[in-house]
Amino acid sequence: MDIEEMKFTVSDEGAIKKVTIQEIKPCVVAQNKIRVLLQLDSEIKDVIPILVSRYPPGRVNYIENKVILTLNVNDRLVTLYPSGKVSMNKTINKEDAIEVITAIVGDINECFNEYEKGETQIEGKKISQIGPLTIYNCLPKTDCEECGEATCMAFSIKLLSGDVKLNQCLPLAKTGKIDCLKEIMGIQLMQKLGWENQI
Ligand code: SF4
Repeated sequence: MDIEEMKFTVSDEGAIKKVTIQEIKPCVVAQNKIRVLLQLDSEIKDVIPILVSRYPPGRVNYIENKVILTLNVNDRLVTLYPSGKVSMNKTINKEDAIEVITAIVGDINECFNEYEKGETQIEGKKISQIGPLTIYNCLPKTDCEECGEATCMAFSIKLLSGDVKLNQCLPLAKTGKIDCLKEIMGIQLMQKLGWENQI
């Protein structure tokens, strides 16, 4: 197939507008699925550290010294490289790949806007260091189940995957523990994880 036929417009405005599918191979981890290599039409080195903060910490793996970000989204791994290269596994077909990368490019383009305005507040390194135990140590640790989870640790794990919202821990607002979370996460990430109370 001609390379032009594999070039797709994924955004009408923003730094990234087009994506080219460069290679399609069988996926080695999922039968009947494919692994797709894509190339964005711009490098993304400056915005990958910002993009890290747009996803729940449990869904990202960020290698800071290489500026490589892997997202666990849409039941697959999507790895983004500084050059704008992207690899995506467990994909159904090229239309599926384009649908997923279009959503990610939307986030990337917003990150470019933030970057240009100097509005970035979250360090990718800080986020990549947040694990379930970090969250757990800042929760009330009463296992009261008001959030719908059996334990505070279960809540911490689901929080990092984006499966529960921070606001669901009702006792959190009534305790000084909220300051602990503010210190380790920062307000922007707390809001990303579903903290809607006044901070
Ligand atoms: S509501 Fe908060 S304190 Fe209670 S179990 Fe859930 S996370 Fe723990």
